[in-house]
Amino acid sequence: MTTVTRFAPSPTGLLHVGNIRTALHAWLLARRHGGRFLLRIDDTDAERSREEYVEAIRADLAWLGLEPDGEERQSARLAIYEDAFAKLREAGRVYRCYETAQELELKRKVLLGRGLPPIYDRAGLALTDADHARFAAEGTMPHWRFRLDHDAPIEWDDGIRGRQHFDPAQLSDPVIRRADGSWLYMLPSAIDDAEMGVTDVLRGEDHVSNTAVQIQMFTALFAAGFGAAKTLPGFAHEALLVGREGKLSKRLGSLSASALRENGIEPEALVALLARLGTSLPVEPIANRQVLIETFDLATFGRAPARFDEAELERLNHAIVHQLDYAQVADRLPAGMDEAAWLAIRPNLETVSDAADWWRVVTGPVEPPAFDDDTRAYLALAASVMTWGDDPWAALTAALKDATGRKGKALFLPLRQALTGMDHGPDMHALLPLIGEAAARERLEKAAAGA
Ligand code: GLU
Repeated sequence: MTTVTRFAPSPTGLLHVGNIRTALHAWLLARRHGGRFLLRIDDTDAERSREEYVEAIRADLAWLGLEPDGEERQSARLAIYEDAFAKLREAGRVYRCYETAQELELKRKVLLGRGLPPIYDRAGLALTDADHARFAAEGTMPHWRFRLDHDAPIEWDDGIRGRQHFDPAQLSDPVIRRADGSWLYMLPSAIDDAEMGVTDVLRGEDHVSNTAVQIQMFTALFAAGFGAAKTLPGFAHEALLVGREGKLSKRLGSLSASALRENGIEPEALVALLARLGTSLPVEPIANRQVLIETFDLATFGRAPARFDEAELERLNHAIVHQLDYAQVADRLPAGMDEAAWLAIRPNLETVSDAADWWRVVTGPVEPPAFDDDTRAYLALAASVMTWGDDPWAALTAALKDATGRKGKALFLPLRQALTGMDHGPDMHALLPLIGEAAARERLEKAAAGA
């Protein structure tokens, strides 16, 4: 059976490290098994869903190299939900309720006050046709709940958490549809997973109790003749991502894919970190996706929260930038910056965009510091002895060492300062050929003249 996984974001905001991680794991799982990775836009909440977020999600996934093999959106599938709902209604698995939010809150408080779990009392199930007619006459529309089967204990082997058990009698029958006919998350998601042949549902552990309810939904849908495969998907719930100081939720704005991209984070750095954070595998600057795919294994996932540390992401990012090929960055480099320049400058970069600063050092003009007389004489000598061969820097420094007896900093630093205007930077062996003979001589002469 082909593995089918899905990433199901609600387009109510930007993707951030937490949901990127879930998307990545679903993608890795599909790729590991030669399967399909689907994007499902969970946009049944028309008020909160926005088209700009749908577009941002697509763009972010493309940037991350997690392009889906197919895309669906819930708002285009309402007829399918209506059909499944009709079947569940016929089978007596959904029922009408009329309580207001305040009434429900009161019921909860009463139960909690008696030390009882705040489980819905199923008052809606006891309503007669006459009751429904009365509500209808008042113009009160019902909302709908899914009736859990209290005689069918819920169990599954979670891909990360191991064997899970739930007693359905300890759960409230979930509201699945509002009085205005709109859908809540729970049922459409189960319908979609059944209808799209999803084999593996991988998501955060905040969904564990939803899974318990959805397992009964799947079973009820299959029994009502809905769904192609009629087998439950496998479920795996990963531990949540937390910041160094606890919850990430407050900082998620700065941890969106687009904010990270603007800060120079490479997709490969984010992918390398998130692929393995919270697993027993070492987090390493692995730029080769194939390695991440081949080593991806739910069995390596731990149950403790995974700690996200921006400093760790930055470290990985530097290491990844130092591995990037010219072809991977060419379209982000300043005009004229070729492969030799990229390779010379790359080891000095923290982010790809910093290359522009170093490229300005190559193209000039540069501002050397003011030198003393002695140093200016030294630089004049440098301009006159400079020859241009395979490694002009080696030739220049060797000639100056012989001629002046200078060594170490006294030999190198004034040259670097005159040639680049800086005290540090890329390896001069690589940089000097990029500057070129004429410009190099001109810079040395200018510094010697103190102009
Ligand atoms: N839209 C849901 C969410 O973002 C999807 C959860 C799921 O994977 O089923 O939490």
